[in-house]
Amino acid sequence: MDLSNKIAIVTGASRGIGYAIADTLASYGANIVCVSTRQSVCDEVAAALQETYGVACIGIAADVSSFEDGASVVKTVIGKFGRVDILVNNAGITRDNLMLRMSLEEWTDVISVNLNSVFNFTKAVLKPMLKNRYGRIVNISSVVGVMGNAGQANYAASKAGIIGFSKSIAREFGAKNITCNVVAPGFIETDMIQSLPKDYLDTIMASIPQKRLGSAREVAEMVSFLASDLAAYTTGQVLHVDGGMQM
Ligand code: NDP
Repeated sequence: MDLSNKIAIVTGASRGIGYAIADTLASYGANIVCVSTRQSVCDEVAAALQETYGVACIGIAADVSSFEDGASVVKTVIGKFGRVDILVNNAGITRDNLMLRMSLEEWTDVISVNLNSVFNFTKAVLKPMLKNRYGRIVNISSVVGVMGNAGQANYAASKAGIIGFSKSIAREFGAKNITCNVVAPGFIETDMIQSLPKDYLDTIMASIPQKRLGSAREVAEMVSFLASDLAAYTTGQVLHVDGGMQM
């Protein structure tokens, strides 16, 4: 896969799946803009990728749930690199609770970070992508957005929303050489699943045909494919990286 000279923004690049995506895109030659909430960590990741792969990387701290931050990140990227080729909307949080106990704050926080962020960053990159007649947008949903999950009504709604949003963007910009696809991971070994009780994870494991958790790298490879020219004729799709949980 060759992503040489591409300019990619990856949100939530400080750790977990986002870090693996940034690392994998850089390994294929892309220049990376690492976005997360902490400037120091963004800078560390950018410096490490630059050192390892010899690509140009910068870190930008931002709150992805802020419309203004989305616009400001893209403005900085255009100022430095002149364009944006690839956007990966990966940043996400969970605030799990059973519906009867879920607070308005738990609902709003998850929708803001997981779904509003996708609007904020997509909105900001579209005009530059149209001008450049090129764009690859990859949004990270979840198996939970497709199947639902008790205790995750907020998270499932945000992740299902990403799918409807992405299909609409794919239809609206298909003729402009801008693709928009979704990767829906299953249960992946990152910080996000560290807090899950062991007996719950055992139950989940039993429902996965491949009988194991996924790795962040396995998600990142699918994202890289969708971000590359190999996937030029693929848009509006949901690709499941979940060991067969959903089929
Ligand atoms: P992690 O919790 O390991 O990392 C979350 C990332 O999102 C961090 O980089 C974090 O930055 C960033 N982030 C969170 N809130 C904000 C914010 N307001 N503004 C900017 N950045 C923010 O998550 P994972 O790597 O596990 O998950 C990545 C994506 O994959 C998420 O969208 C998640 O929903 C999805 N996913 C994960 C699965 C899993 O099993 N792990 C399964 C299915 C989907 P910081 O370090 O600064 O906090």
